[in-house]
Amino acid sequence: MTESDAPANTRRMHEVSPETVDLVDLVLEYSRRRILSTDTPLDGPVAEAELARLVGRTVVDEGIGAARALQLFEDVLAPACITTDHPQYLSFIPTAPTKAATAFDLVVSASAVYGGSWLEGSGAVFAENQVLSWLAGEFGLPDTAGGVFVQGGTLGNLSALVAAREAARTRCEEAGEVPPARWRIVCSAEAHSSIASAARVMDVEVVPVPVGDSGMLTGADVRGALEEHGSSVFAVVATAGSTNFGIVDDVASLATLKAEFDFWLHVDGAYGLAGMLSPLARARFAGVEQADSVIVDPHKWLFAPFDACALIYRDPAAGRRAHTQHAEYLDTLTETSEWSPSDYAAHLTRRARGLPFWFSLATYGAQAYRDAIGASLQLAHDIAREIDTREGLRLVREPQLSVVVFERDGWSRADYAEWSARLLAEQRAFVTPSSHQGRPNTRFAILNPMTTFEQLVGILDTM
Ligand SMILES: *Cc1c(COP(=O)(O)O)cnc(C)c1O
Repeated sequence: MTESDAPANTRRMHEVSPETVDLVDLVLEYSRRRILSTDTPLDGPVAEAELARLVGRTVVDEGIGAARALQLFEDVLAPACITTDHPQYLSFIPTAPTKAATAFDLVVSASAVYGGSWLEGSGAVFAENQVLSWLAGEFGLPDTAGGVFVQGGTLGNLSALVAAREAARTRCEEAGEVPPARWRIVCSAEAHSSIASAARVMDVEVVPVPVGDSGMLTGADVRGALEEHGSSVFAVVATAGSTNFGIVDDVASLATLKAEFDFWLHVDGAYGLAGMLSPLARARFAGVEQADSVIVDPHKWLFAPFDACALIYRDPAAGRRAHTQHAEYLDTLTETSEWSPSDYAAHLTRRARGLPFWFSLATYGAQAYRDAIGASLQLAHDIAREIDTREGLRLVREPQLSVVVFERDGWSRADYAEWSARLLAEQRAFVTPSSHQGRPNTRFAILNPMTTFEQLVGILDTM
């Protein structure tokens, strides 16, 4: 190996020296401990002033050294972060990466893979695309469907909706029509906040459609909005597993309207679409096979580490038309027909973030995933039955997927907040208060295969 001409303090950052070997060992040993630990506590947030006192200044000209920085992380910073893969983390949407996926995340970093183009990352892109094709097949999309892993559902929804509007604009132009003064997205009033966020970024309008008692958006609900707003509606968004309740819209009846109206059907399945892999829930997703685009987050119910969203287009060329970046220095990439992931979303440089999921899926096989998802569905069903039998507890809705929302008779917002804070302080569970139509409640979002019925019963006993 040639000697670098750089000054010594620069060289030590990149050279392989005894000091570097020690540093890498230190980091890998910590990672090994954490991945194999079975008793990492839930932990919790720490006030900024307290962190400042415990950590002090770490960014200084001379550096504080790897041993000291890692020690601070292990002793102070990591315990100030909630352990999201803890079996009793039941708030929001948890994460529960498999051991293979977590371990392989280290490999992705170690390999310095550029995941944006075929030229630079063909091997990684090939493996990611196998996973996307497999998912597309599970969702009933054609063999030609494809897309890209993006950072999260928010970016996935935005990228899909940008492609949808581009398709509508092109159609309008080709038909010689005047484009509408305002483009519109129709979705359920219960759709995820990221749809409104995408609309703000795109400067388009959201038409929120109220839903009936079932919480499911249907074709009948949407028809009025399509008739009223005509061809200004470029997309209808179906939610396949709402975040708060796990409700799956009636995608089949929404898809039927495509025969009468020209719109792009996008399915936001960030959390719930994984449920389609289990025969226990598959029937709820009828119609997804007619979507123009779908998203699902492997960092939610597909057991991958943060952060990954699979964005899949029925016609990938539509995604490419909307998103390819053109620049002189990129011409060598964009003037080929090779599959470059950068072309399919609002991004350029990207980590090959689909690889941890690929490695895990290749390691354990698809059936293990189906069974793990089925186990969450079964556990949600079982704990719902338990809640039914308990005096003073009431299900707000029968769970469709793996989110169980329930109330305690007579509890105010403050009661839920106090109870929730106590559970975390005692390191028993992380279960946050929620609400529906102004009434406070709480929920179990169940997707970690290590969560047990007994643990959930133990939490109910504290109410
Ligand atoms: C979580 C979620 C999102 C947002 O996904 P992020 O990965 O958090 O950006 C969008 N839609 C639904 C239905 C979700 O559950």
